[in-house]
Amino acid sequence: MSLLQVKRLGKSYDLETKVLKDISFDVEAGEFVSIIGPSGAGKSTLLRSINRMVEINEGHVIFDNNDVGSLKKKELRQLRTDIGMIFQHYNLVPRLSVIENVLHGRFGYKTTIQGILGRFTEDEKERAFYLLDKLGIGEHAYKRCDQLSGGQQQRVGIARALIQDPKLVLCDEPIASLDPNTSKIIMDHLQSIVSELNITCIVNLHQVEVAQTYSDRIIGLKAGEIVFDGPTPWLTDDR
Ligand code: ADP
Ligand code: ADP
Repeated sequence: MSLLQVKRLGKSYDLETKVLKDISFDVEAGEFVSIIGPSGAGKSTLLRSINRMVEINEGHVIFDNNDVGSLKKKELRQLRTDIGMIFQHYNLVPRLSVIENVLHGRFGYKTTIQGILGRFTEDEKERAFYLLDKLGIGEHAYKRCDQLSGGQQQRVGIARALIQDPKLVLCDEPIASLDPNTSKIIMDHLQSIVSELNITCIVNLHQVEVAQTYSDRIIGLKAGEIVFDGPTPWLTDDR
C-alpha cells in the first residue's frame, strides 16, 4: 500500500470558497514530489491537511494505513513524529542555540525550553550532530539561531524536521525567502539527506524549474484543483 493516499479531499475555510476540490493522489515511500502552483492555489492548505494542521471537510488522508481524520490525540502526536515539517520562515526559536532547536523537534512544540540539552540521551545528541554535520553547519551548533543567515537557519529547520526520524517530510515553500544561490544549496542538501535517510518528501514550490531539477514527480495545483500529476519530464529520459 502507498505510504500516503489522499482521497477526494475537499477543504473550505468559509462557506463561500472551496480552497481544495476533489484532490486525489497517492505517494509511494521514497518518492520526492513537488507541488507547484501560483500563490493562493491551495498548496499550503494541502500540505497542512496531510499532518492535520488543517482539518479537511471532505474526503480522506490515509498515512501509513491510518485515516488521519479519525486519529485520537495521542495517535496524532505519533503522526507528527512520523511526519516532519519544514516552513518558509524556518519557525525556529531565535534565542535558542542551533542544537537546542534541533533537539526541540523531538519533543514537539509544547515542551518547556529550559534545560533542553539535559533531557536527551547521548544517542539523540549524536544524531543531532550527525545531521548538522551532514548539512554543513556542525560548527554553528552552539550559536544562537538568530545569529545565522537565512540559509543556515533553514538547514537547522531541516535538521529539526529529521531528528525524529520521520517517514515523510513536508516542506512548505522552503526556499521562498532565499536568494537563488542559497536556494540551490538548500535544495541540494534536502535532496541528498532525504535520499540518504530514505525519507519520502513532498515540497511546495512556486518555481517550476526548481521542481524539475529536484523532484521525481510534479503535481500542479491551480485554484484548488490538480491540473497535472506525472513524472518530471527530463528526469525520466535517462531512467
Ligand atoms: P498557496 O500555498 O498555494 O499559496 P494557500 O493554501 O495558502 O495557497 O491558500 C489557498 C487559499 O486559502 C487562499 O485563498 C487563502 O487566502 C485561503 N486561506 C489559507 N489559509 C486560510 C485560513 N487559515 N483561513 C482562511 N482562508 C485561508
Ligand atoms: P495547537 O497548540 O493549536 O494544538 P499544534 O500543536 O497543532 O497547535 O501546532 C502548534 C504549532 O507547532 C503550529 O502552528 C506549527 O507551527 C507547529 N507544528 C505543528 N505540527 C508540526 C509538525 N508536525 N512539525 C513541525 N511543526 C509543527
